[in-house]
Amino acid sequence: MYTDCILGKDYFYQVIEKIAGLIEEKRDYLTELDAAIGDADHGFNLSIGFREVLKKMPEWKDKDIKGFFRSVGMTLLGKVGGAAGPLYGSFFMKFGEPGSGKDEVTFQELFEMFKQGVEAVEQRGKAILGEKTMVDALRPALNAFEKAMKENLEAKQVMEAFVDAARQGAEATIDMIAKKGRAMRLGERSRGHLDPGAASSTMILEVFLDCFPF
Ligand SMILES: [Mg+2]
Repeated sequence: MYTDCILGKDYFYQVIEKIAGLIEEKRDYLTELDAAIGDADHGFNLSIGFREVLKKMPEWKDKDIKGFFRSVGMTLLGKVGGAAGPLYGSFFMKFGEPGSGKDEVTFQELFEMFKQGVEAVEQRGKAILGEKTMVDALRPALNAFEKAMKENLEAKQVMEAFVDAARQGAEATIDMIAKKGRAMRLGERSRGHLDPGAASSTMILEVFLDCFPF
């Protein structure tokens, strides 16, 4: 299964370029979400980080997949303020690990990349499901990826299940009370708002589907 589904560096470059464009486009929307329950900087912070990534990307062309994502992660870590910097920084640094010494990965390895990335976010943020964080989008997405793969769905369908689960997970944060981050201080008043991190993570995963070549 999935033997024809090989993803090269060009796919990953395209994904990061598109994420950078999308963050720019959605910058004010993400900041508005953060204004409701946080400190109104999420979109702004991410856009600073991804602008820098976009600027430096040409220097990373010769790196293997691991090296490329390590550079993406380090750049976000260094440039993105607030909690998002360490979280997305850890995500992308770990995401590349299965691509060590490689210019292309299998579909199974793509799953492994997401697995390592999501686990890194969970560890870094010490967050679990139901706390109104990006984990509420990322964890269900990862679980859906694994389930769909076990059911032998086609690669494209696996990616669709993955993104659908992220969307549903993000949507579910609206009814949650925040247990992490600044929003936690609002207690009950954090209910009724979409979590900005869950929203941005979902957007990012959507790009992996949009660019998916199969
Ligand atoms: Mg913020």
